[in-house]
Amino acid sequence: MNDTYQTLSEKSKKYLWNPFTQMQGYNADQPLIIESAQGVKLRDVTGREYYDGVSSVWLNVHGHNVPELNEAITAQLGKIAHSTLLGMANVPAIELAEQLVQIAPPGLAKVFYSDSGATSVEIAIKMAFQYWQHNGQPEKRSFVTMNNAYHGDTIGAVSVGAIDIYHKAYSSLLFQSYRVDYPYCYRCPLGKDLSDCAFACLQQVESLLQEKGQEIAAFIIEPIVQGASGIITMPEGFLKRLRELCTTYDVLMICDEVATGFGRTGKMFACEHDGVTPDLMCVAKGLTGGYLPVAATLATDEIYDAFLGGYEEKKTFFQGHSYTGNQLGCAVALANLELFRERDLVTDVARKSEHLAARLAMLGERKYVGDIRQRGLMAGIELVKDKASKTEYDWSEKIGLVVSRRACELGMILRPLGNVVVFMPPLGSTITELDEMTDILIQAIIDVTEEGVQVRAEFLPHGL
Ligand SMILES: *Cc1c(COP(=O)(O)O)cnc(C)c1O
Repeated sequence: MNDTYQTLSEKSKKYLWNPFTQMQGYNADQPLIIESAQGVKLRDVTGREYYDGVSSVWLNVHGHNVPELNEAITAQLGKIAHSTLLGMANVPAIELAEQLVQIAPPGLAKVFYSDSGATSVEIAIKMAFQYWQHNGQPEKRSFVTMNNAYHGDTIGAVSVGAIDIYHKAYSSLLFQSYRVDYPYCYRCPLGKDLSDCAFACLQQVESLLQEKGQEIAAFIIEPIVQGASGIITMPEGFLKRLRELCTTYDVLMICDEVATGFGRTGKMFACEHDGVTPDLMCVAKGLTGGYLPVAATLATDEIYDAFLGGYEEKKTFFQGHSYTGNQLGCAVALANLELFRERDLVTDVARKSEHLAARLAMLGERKYVGDIRQRGLMAGIELVKDKASKTEYDWSEKIGLVVSRRACELGMILRPLGNVVVFMPPLGSTITELDEMTDILIQAIIDVTEEGVQVRAEFLPHGL
C-alpha cells in the first residue's frame, strides 16, 4: 500500500460523503480510489486494474479515454465551455437536438436539455402536468407509475418512483401516484405463468385508466427493462399494449430511457423493440458516452405547441438549469453519436448480446441462480437460496454485494441490486473482453454461493 493511497484514503474518509453508500462501513474499510482508465479497464491509485463491469454505473459506451471523445471536448474547449440556453442558443446544442430528433422514435420532435436522469424526469412530469392545464383539462393531474420503478432521486422523480427502501423516508414530502405491477414474470405478482397469462396484469392497468383516466396526466414507464428494481425484463408486445391503453384513455406516456437508451438493449432506444413512440422520452446516462452530465427530455409537437402563446399569456415552460445545453457536454454527445454511426454500434450490440446470452446460459445450471434476465448488454442474475421455492436470500446476507466484492478481487467492478448481480459492460467491449468479464462474473458467483470463498475487505467498493 503506497503513501499516496494512504493519504487519499484518509482524506476521502475525512471529507467525502458518497452517494448510496453507508459511510460507516466505508470509513471502516479501505476504499477503492480510481485514478485513470483505458478502454474498458479502470485503474486505481495503487496501480491495480479492474474491468468496468457496470459501465461506471450504466453510463459508459465506448470505453474510457476514447481519443475521439477526448478530442471533441478539447476542440470545443478552445471555443467556449459554456454559455446560457435561456433565451438564446449555442452551436452544439442545436446540432445535438437535430440528431436526437433524427434517431428518436418518430413523432418526438423537440429537445429540452438538463443535466441528469432525475432532472429529465422532473421536466417530463412538469411538462405533462402543465400540458393538460394549457389544454383546458386541469383535472388531469395524477401520475401512474409501476411497482419498483426508479426514476431518480429528486423529490418529483421519487414521487413517481416505487422502490420502498429508497422512498419510504420521504413519503410525506411526495405527491401520491397510482401504482401498477411491472411484469416481473419470474415472481409474477398474480401468480401466473407467462406461457398462458395473456398479460393478465394489463387488466389492472386498463381498469385503473378506465376508472381514473380523467384525472391522470401521464403514465411513466421504464420501457423493456426496469433497471434499478433488478433488471426486470418486459415480455415482447407488453409495451405496445401499454401504449395502446394510454392512447385509448387519453393519458400521456412518458418513457424513461435513461438506462435503456443509446444502444444498451440492442436498439438505439428500447421503445423500438415494440415500435412505440411515447409522448415524452427521458434520456441521460449513455447520451455523452459516459463523459459529461447532459440529459434531455424529448417531446411531441403536440405537447410543445400547447405551451405556445403571447408573452402575457404566461404559458412559458418556466423551468431550466444553469448548465442547460452545456457546450462541452453537447459536443461530446455529438462525437458519441458519430462513433455509434461509424462503428455501427447498435447492430454490434445486438450481435454481442447473443454471444453474452450463450455465455450466461451456463449459469442456469448453478444451484443458486434463480433467474437470468438480459436485453442487449444489460443483464441481471437473480440469486436465490432455494431454486424450487425461489426463496430469497435475506437482506442481511448481502449476497449481491459479496459476489460483487469477490468479482472486484478477481479484477472487475460490479455493483449489485440487492440479490441481483448486475452485469452491464461498456457497449464497445470486444468479444474477448466480454469473455474475460463473464469468466470473472461466473467465477465470483460460484465462489461465493457454492464454494464459501471469504472476501477480503480491502480496496473494494461499498454498496447496497
Ligand atoms: C439512473 C436512472 C435515473 C436517474 O438518472 P440520474 O442521472 O442518476 O439522475 C432515472 N431513470 C432511470 C431508469 C435510471 O436508470
